[in-house]
Amino acid sequence: MNIHEYQAKALLRSYGAPVSNGHVVTRAEEAKTIAGEIDGPLWVVKAQIHAGGRGKGHFVEPEAGEKGGVRLAKSIGEAAEEAKKMLGRTLVTHQTGPVGKQVGRVYIENGSGIARELYLAMLIDRQSSRIAFVCSTEGGMDIEEVAAKTPDRILSFTIDPVTGYQPYHGRRIAFALGLEGKQIKQCSTLIGQLYKLFLDKDCEMIEINPLVVTDAGDLKCLDAKMAFDSNALYRHDDILALRDETEEDPKELAASKYDLNYIALDGEIGCMVNGAGLAMATMDIIKLYGAEPANFLDVGGGATREKVTEAFKIITSDPNVKGILVNIFGGIMRCDVIAEGVVAAVKEVGLKVPLVVRLEGTNVEKGKAILNGSGLDVIAADDLSDAAEKIVKAVKG
Ligand code: ADP
Ligand code: MG
Repeated sequence: MNIHEYQAKALLRSYGAPVSNGHVVTRAEEAKTIAGEIDGPLWVVKAQIHAGGRGKGHFVEPEAGEKGGVRLAKSIGEAAEEAKKMLGRTLVTHQTGPVGKQVGRVYIENGSGIARELYLAMLIDRQSSRIAFVCSTEGGMDIEEVAAKTPDRILSFTIDPVTGYQPYHGRRIAFALGLEGKQIKQCSTLIGQLYKLFLDKDCEMIEINPLVVTDAGDLKCLDAKMAFDSNALYRHDDILALRDETEEDPKELAASKYDLNYIALDGEIGCMVNGAGLAMATMDIIKLYGAEPANFLDVGGGATREKVTEAFKIITSDPNVKGILVNIFGGIMRCDVIAEGVVAAVKEVGLKVPLVVRLEGTNVEKGKAILNGSGLDVIAADDLSDAAEKIVKAVKG
């Protein structure tokens, strides 16, 4: 789960990390009062969406003005005006895709004089199963670009969970970032605070881009992105309360309500599969036959008829889906339950695209009988490659 910059900064602040003072605005009429609570002489007005690259982004509506999603203001009045221009408007960045995202909240914060912009991130390194730090002197830019062009300017290392964070980790980062004097101590303290926050809250990622050295020579977190492990949210009510459902893909949101593992993708073939491994294999084989999957969907082992119905509805609600492949290997999952779910969903929402079903395993005959007796226009398949070939053919002709 992702959160907004202003929420991430509040968390950082609660761990003692240096961030600017700021307040969030959700209603245009409050903009002036809220801006007035923040000290000048410089204000920064920042669109809050779950995507980066806001500064270099642009708005769809001309009323929002020419500037991007991060704007400087020299007075309270100007800050309030910029906030009003952005609220309710659509911001497009390289991370939002061409449709952009509607800005429902704007953050107004104290502007900082910037001497240097640096990059700092923490994430889980799956290879070593450890928390990793990544830092670079090239802040404010896309780290992917830095990695591609100047990989020597990136330092990354992992933390041994047995020792946990040690001050020398902080110093190592400080030296890599070219920090000096009091900044070294500040950096070491910050890294310790971030490490604690990361562990306490079951984070998946924290990215501070940029971490800046201010004109006064102090470190400050000027941007903050945080993602949390969804599987651990049950033990973090405070984090769960930060969820902004308007930022999530409506299909993924519906899926999460039914405890389905669903990820929307860009292709044309919707897949309903049980088991993450089989779901991956199904996506691979769809590609092998020349098409692209529209989603990853694992209905899980013990899915009920209601869950299957919901899953099928989510797939059919995607306008990109030109065909559906149901691929079930019934182990714990029973094929008749899948068949009942598919039939129930089609009765409710109809079926406008070809449907290929491959069933195998527990109660397979019962499942096939339900589908055959339903009057649905189902294309039956015998195995995985047969199923993939048939759905690609049905979609592409
Ligand atoms: P994004 O990464 O989405 O573009 P950032 O928060 O990183 O948004 O802001 C983009 C740039 O705007 C930063 O690299 C920094 O130069 C500037 N900026 C952001 N916040 C402030 C601030 N409080 N004071 C001064 N400059 C800022
Ligand atoms: Mg940034």
